[in-house]
Amino acid sequence: MRLEKMPSEFQEALPILEKIKSAGFEAYFVGGSVRDALLERPIHDVDIASSAYPEETKAIFDRTVDVGIEHGTVLVLENGQEYEITTFRTEDVYVDYRRPSSVSFVRSLDEDLKRRDFTVNAFALNEKGEIVDLFDGLEDLENKLLRAVGVPHERFHEDALRIMRGFRFQASLGFELEEETFDAMKECAPLLEKISVERTFIEFDKLLLSPYWRQGLAAMLESGAYQYLPAMKGKKAAFEHLFELVMDYTFTTSEQAWAALVLALEIQDIPKFMKGWKTSRDFAKTVERIVEILNIRQKRSLDKRDCYKYDKRLLLLAEELREASELSVDYLAIEQVYDSLTIHDKHEVVVNGGMLIKDYGFQPGPALGDILTKIEYAIVDGELANDKEAILTFIQQLEEEEK
Ligand code: ATP
Ligand code: MG
Repeated sequence: MRLEKMPSEFQEALPILEKIKSAGFEAYFVGGSVRDALLERPIHDVDIASSAYPEETKAIFDRTVDVGIEHGTVLVLENGQEYEITTFRTEDVYVDYRRPSSVSFVRSLDEDLKRRDFTVNAFALNEKGEIVDLFDGLEDLENKLLRAVGVPHERFHEDALRIMRGFRFQASLGFELEEETFDAMKECAPLLEKISVERTFIEFDKLLLSPYWRQGLAAMLESGAYQYLPAMKGKKAAFEHLFELVMDYTFTTSEQAWAALVLALEIQDIPKFMKGWKTSRDFAKTVERIVEILNIRQKRSLDKRDCYKYDKRLLLLAEELREASELSVDYLAIEQVYDSLTIHDKHEVVVNGGMLIKDYGFQPGPALGDILTKIEYAIVDGELANDKEAILTFIQQLEEEEK
């Protein structure tokens, strides 16, 4: 089969294929970009596979970066673009179920395509727009089916991350899992415990952010695979709560998706839960903050202090989740309260501790800290102007009240 119209991303990369070919090697576009081109979906990264070994690829191009040379990947910089060129390879036995124990470079495209996970991810496209389809991926694409390349059980046994990838592609493409493939995913699911959490997180996160996340998640629950993810054992009913909590909605950020998940699962100790997923502290904090905002919003509208405390972006992300839960929303009120703030950070207060000590003879210590906090909140509440004279009068009043 021939691709009728080569998307511009491929056309721009054609000179790369030509260069590799004129040096005497084979080169093809491979992976997700070919699948997406066939589906007429937007293409992100154009991946190239070649019979040239990494050193040979480096000799062909002027500007290259070793990004994963042990896996055979060289980054080529051409025409202001970056292309990953990976040597055809097979993967040997996965001893610890985590990563290939060794990678063997080969000169045959067929071998390289055989190691790929799903038939719709195992196409190669040449410079003439001809599709190499060794595993009837075109038929699966037509039928919207995800089918493992080769013997499913063996493939998931080799690398259990492929199980998560299966659910993830189901969520992103809206495809069904072919029966034998799904059964093998179910059988091999316990092996997910052996996969590094970081790799699992990437796939699960992508699943949550996909338009058909409900479909991917439902299959994950049905298969029982969720039990082998951090802190998810026995949480099927709680997981299903997410389907009711969030209606027809595509999450806009990872943190927002994880906040919804945490709420559905009724996680009490959010930092601990996120630590289990090995996310960054910043990520966990943002998730926690979105949940905090939602808890406030359950009781009342947001006031100036809330808007001062939380980033506007987070306030809006939380409000979007309310909308997704079909709860009342007031985006305008958030915008208005936020915009009415005269300061957004305590460093914007025109008077600071140092000044009060140096110019006005205040003593450093907790009492001064108290005064500064009172000033800060009086300004936030709109009761005090952020103006030096007004602040000094305010301090005098505070001192009189003390007496
Ligand atoms: P996306 O559009 O989301 O990037 P993708 O199909 O490009 O999807 P990647 O994770 O970028 O997915 O991987 C690129 C390609 O590498 C896949 O299409 C697949 O052929 C192959 N691949 C990636 N991970 C695995 C794996 N664990 N086992 C087998 N093949 C894999
Ligand atoms: Mg990709």
